[in-house]
Amino acid sequence: MDLTKHEFELDELVERIKKNDNRLVALQVPEGLKMQALEMMDEIESQTSARVVLSADPCYGACDLVHDKMQNIGVELVAHMGHSQMNIDSGMPTQFIPVTYEGSPEIAPVIPFLHAHRNIAIERLNNPSEPVTSELEGLEKFEDMVGRIAPLTDTKLGLVGSIQHLHLLPTYKKYFEDAGFDVTIPIGGARLTFPGQVLGCNYSGDDPSVGHYIFLGSGDFHPIGLVLHTGKPLAMLDPYTGDATEMGRERIERILRQRSSLIMSSMDKERFGILIGAKPGQMRRNLALRMKKKLEKHGKKGYLLAMEHVGPELIDFYPVDVFVNTACPRIAIDDAVKYAKPMITPYELEVVLGEKKWEDGYKFDEIH
Ligand code: SF4
Repeated sequence: MDLTKHEFELDELVERIKKNDNRLVALQVPEGLKMQALEMMDEIESQTSARVVLSADPCYGACDLVHDKMQNIGVELVAHMGHSQMNIDSGMPTQFIPVTYEGSPEIAPVIPFLHAHRNIAIERLNNPSEPVTSELEGLEKFEDMVGRIAPLTDTKLGLVGSIQHLHLLPTYKKYFEDAGFDVTIPIGGARLTFPGQVLGCNYSGDDPSVGHYIFLGSGDFHPIGLVLHTGKPLAMLDPYTGDATEMGRERIERILRQRSSLIMSSMDKERFGILIGAKPGQMRRNLALRMKKKLEKHGKKGYLLAMEHVGPELIDFYPVDVFVNTACPRIAIDDAVKYAKPMITPYELEVVLGEKKWEDGYKFDEIH
């Protein structure tokens, strides 16, 4: 990754610090940019009379705003870098600093994936002039990648990206339109700030007119969540490397097999630890309480455990059989193998208790 191509827009922050005459400011940066944090601190201190404290704890999203800890240190303003504002209030004045990356990958390598995916979407759209004659045929035509029967209304290409590449979306929309695709940049709910934005826990811009997706970004964190949530084919174009690939069906099936086996091994268990994330944008206390009530209804025990960071060394020793995670949904999906006991999502607990059916298709745990 060429970090020199990243742009940090510090001007608004510097203006705000000067205007408010802030003396102590905290800087919070995502893990991938921590190496550059000291450089940023120098720049802010050289342009203002404020002193800067780096929040050196891990930070994985805007759900993770430093709040009371920084207030205790006497910080007046938090500068949060590389994520956008969510529909949460951390209780601290916060300035969000955009980080953008000037990549310009060629689209040619991703076009074959898009043609193949559009054909899948056309099949799922199911031409109304050819009525479905059997249940099996209906299943084949309408079933998405996570096993739901979810008919489409169109076969548009949904263009999405991770936050540092969102400024490229209008340009790439034109490129893909010129290549013959009907492109839409989905607009999501209140947790998302920008058109085309996706988070690891929120893909709320999806709708039945989108038949397949192209993701502008790197890594498979967002792509895995997007396919688990939407069940739709997804191609990926990496602005850092220019690589084009797709989120293969086998990969999603492997994850679903793992989820199914965690559900199976939780079926006969009696004692459940229900995790509540204490970070402002992960806190789902009501959901946790609902899960406890459901467990009690089925004659099982549910213990509520609140924590900021979730890790095996922090919970594995509790005498429970299964953990139900209501903190960041990706802890259960991506990190399950790290835990000695099954780690399941609230939806998966409902399957365990027989209140939801696995056969109806997988439901991704989204935070709204
Ligand atoms: S995926 Fe997890 S870390 Fe990322 S924004 Fe959502 S809750 Fe936060």
